[in-house]
Amino acid sequence: MANPFDTLRKILNNEAARGYDNKGIIGGLDKYVPLLQQQAQAAGAEPAVVAEVVDRLQRYPGLPGSDRAAAIAELMTRLPASMPAAPRSPVTPPTVTPSPEPVARPPQRPAPTPRPSGRAAEAESPRPAPASPRPTPPKAQPPQRPPEPSRPSPSESHPPKRQEQPYRSAPPRRAVVSQARRLPLPPAPAGIGPDAPLTVLHGVGPKQAENLQRLGLNSMRDALTFFPRRYVDYSHLKPINRLEYGEEVTIIATVWETVVRRIRSGQAQIVQSILSDGTGNIEVSWFGQPWVAERLTAGKQVQVAGKVDEYLGRITLRNPEWEDLDAESLKTGRIVPVYPLTEGVSADRLRRWMYEAVGYTAPHMPDALPQPLRERAELLPFGEALLQIHFPDTQESLAAARKRLAFDELLLLQLGLRRQRAEWQSVAGQALAVSEEALATALSGLPYALTEAQTRALADIRADLARPAPMNRLLQGDVGSGKTVVAALAMLAAAEGGAQSALMAPTTILAEQHYRNVTGLLKRGDVALLLGSTPDAEKATIYAGLRDGSLKMVIGTQAIIQDRVEFANLGLVVVDEQHRFGVAQRARLRGKGANPHVLVMTATPIPRTLALTLYGDLDLSILNEMPPGRRPIDTRVLYVNERERAYAFLRRQIQQGRQAFVICPLVEESDKIEAKAAVDEHARLQKQVFPDLRLGLLHGRMKADEKEEVMRAFRDGETHILVSTSVVEVGVDVPNASTMLVEGANRFGLAQLHQFRGRVGRGTHLSYCLLASDLGPGLKADENERLKAMEQTQDGFVLAEKDLELRGPGQFLGTQQAGFGALRMAKLTRLAVPLIDLARREAETVFAADPQLQAPEHGLLAGNLAAFWNAVEGAGDVS
Ligand code: ADP
Ligand code: MG
Repeated sequence: MANPFDTLRKILNNEAARGYDNKGIIGGLDKYVPLLQQQAQAAGAEPAVVAEVVDRLQRYPGLPGSDRAAAIAELMTRLPASMPAAPRSPVTPPTVTPSPEPVARPPQRPAPTPRPSGRAAEAESPRPAPASPRPTPPKAQPPQRPPEPSRPSPSESHPPKRQEQPYRSAPPRRAVVSQARRLPLPPAPAGIGPDAPLTVLHGVGPKQAENLQRLGLNSMRDALTFFPRRYVDYSHLKPINRLEYGEEVTIIATVWETVVRRIRSGQAQIVQSILSDGTGNIEVSWFGQPWVAERLTAGKQVQVAGKVDEYLGRITLRNPEWEDLDAESLKTGRIVPVYPLTEGVSADRLRRWMYEAVGYTAPHMPDALPQPLRERAELLPFGEALLQIHFPDTQESLAAARKRLAFDELLLLQLGLRRQRAEWQSVAGQALAVSEEALATALSGLPYALTEAQTRALADIRADLARPAPMNRLLQGDVGSGKTVVAALAMLAAAEGGAQSALMAPTTILAEQHYRNVTGLLKRGDVALLLGSTPDAEKATIYAGLRDGSLKMVIGTQAIIQDRVEFANLGLVVVDEQHRFGVAQRARLRGKGANPHVLVMTATPIPRTLALTLYGDLDLSILNEMPPGRRPIDTRVLYVNERERAYAFLRRQIQQGRQAFVICPLVEESDKIEAKAAVDEHARLQKQVFPDLRLGLLHGRMKADEKEEVMRAFRDGETHILVSTSVVEVGVDVPNASTMLVEGANRFGLAQLHQFRGRVGRGTHLSYCLLASDLGPGLKADENERLKAMEQTQDGFVLAEKDLELRGPGQFLGTQQAGFGALRMAKLTRLAVPLIDLARREAETVFAADPQLQAPEHGLLAGNLAAFWNAVEGAGDVS
């Protein structure tokens, strides 16, 4: 039987060699206790000895540094040199499936690991049967659980030593990060700053530097913000006999034997190792990595990490990560970062380079947050957050790092918006007053009475327009809540006040739709429609009319912010579907006039807290009421096996003359992959399901005019079904479309599903929304529960709040929100609303004290703000 104390001895030696920093093993010496207890019991070690050793190990992390050397030396003397001849709880070696192929065996089995023999051990046990039930030799997995790790029982003659010790428990720590599991930093070569090229890393030459460049990595600074895509948690150390199928673990074990097999008829090779840790054995295998066999020689101690798998009823690890026991652990025994990869750069090497780059520079990065703010908000220091985001010590420290980095982004966003708002308000605009009679006339000319919500919003807008400071207002209202008429009346008010107005929509189709609506509502002739496709001669006339002021209103796409467009007196700018435009476009449109009033409209229901944050530069009006007579859209959550029924339903609707949308599942946040999925789904539906119907296809990779053409064909009834990715979200009216089928509905946020649903029910027909979930009935009940909310309410704000509660605010900062691309960490993180509030409050404090960020302690912050704001504006450009 292997002596479990041999491993401990090795760990203690390692600890001494490191200078007693409690990192002799990942997580600190006390982390070895459970494993030791298991192995010692299995090996039949004297319980009193084990208890003594365990006690000392547990106290070690709390010892002052000066006492540690003595403690280790002392502990060494307590370790038994050998084990009793027979273990108490025998383990059977796994039977390796006999192979017909020749097996390469290591020539000699080393002396310290004689093959354990279960039967012999049982027979020769020198001890009386222990009080706890004796484990029988495991024949098949899962292994029978051994008794709980031995604890000294009161009946045993152990005085409660612990109480006598003044350093019984570790001193309470205030820091969020447990110091115990720290990864030692690589020794940095002299003179490496954040702008050093990556070629200073070991093994990075010109070729690899080029590869890294493809990942956007040029300098140390780039590496710091190259955040892991995800993490694998291998921080759970477990004894082999406790492994459970499906869990991600690290084991510490001795290599029993390693063989290489050739897979029949192929060149591929499998390396199979049997590892033993005294509690049990496990066979692990690597495919196509024959070199592993050379390094995993019998007797070697290794840490092996992976997901526990099952093969023929026995647990196993396939292609696990592994490292020597004494190596610095980058990929076993801890939470392992997973980075985006590119061709020519392996995960292992990239992780090693990141470790160097981050280790060299992160600790020396200055912190832009003033100390008092950091303490108030309980945030990690910047350098520490960078270290932890890449190589987290614990899940808690990872969460703390995310919090810190997300906070930084949110704070910069808030500061930027606040500054922008202050700038806008500091300049004078023109006061545009509309007379009561003019307004009453317009209202009486409408085909319906305004809802109360519309009336309130209109009053807000009129009050803003009448003031000499420019309006900055966000009109938020669910799809169909009637934003257009509010915008039209605002434009009328501007005209009455003697100014011109412009309405900008994200697509040609929407611009045309608005043009028809506004001219219909206001019954005016001095309104122009300006599109990219407008013939040149007509454009010239429009330009002239806008320049001389004879045209009072222009409605169009981005064509209206072209350089050649000049206004005699632009007083009001309305931007529809705000999230398609960035902060930059808004600024540009604003620049067309002398500080015109700005009204931004969005149909994306955003919970109030978030709206205040994301649109911190805007005042808010909300249309929280639908015009009367709206029929709810019949919404159903379908399960996997109900898809055929859904197709049959679609077919019936089309036979009745209606049209339908099919939304493809959200594959990944990649336009390219999503487009491909849509192309495939379109082809499948066209060939296999609806060969007799005409199907359109819409995805984000298509050119703007291609998209417009597809939408136009659908609107004009030339296609029956429109297969689309989430790009269809933008508010196009197709009154004849009665059914919306959303595939993979469980992958979308409720707010987004609600947006999709808003595409139907715009005509007089009864409309339906079918949500096909990837999940079977009963599976993931909570996910289905979430979708059920769609059946229960038609109120976008209720759904948005629910989504916020269930899935966090990340999705509201998603890629759709052009202009928020700079919120990288905030987007990745399921950050809590309190953090957003916190950032807003802190921004307020900073801004109130030092609006220009001129104080010395705000110097770095000012620099970061400039860089961040550039990114915000850059991201806002719509192609
Ligand atoms: P959205 O907010 O999605 O832009 P629209 O402005 O397109 O909504 O309005 C949706 C529909 O509701 C339009 O057909 C419009 O004529 C109608 N509508 C708007 N306001 C009212 C109202 N107060 N009463 C009745 N119908 C209204
Ligand atoms: Mg609209």
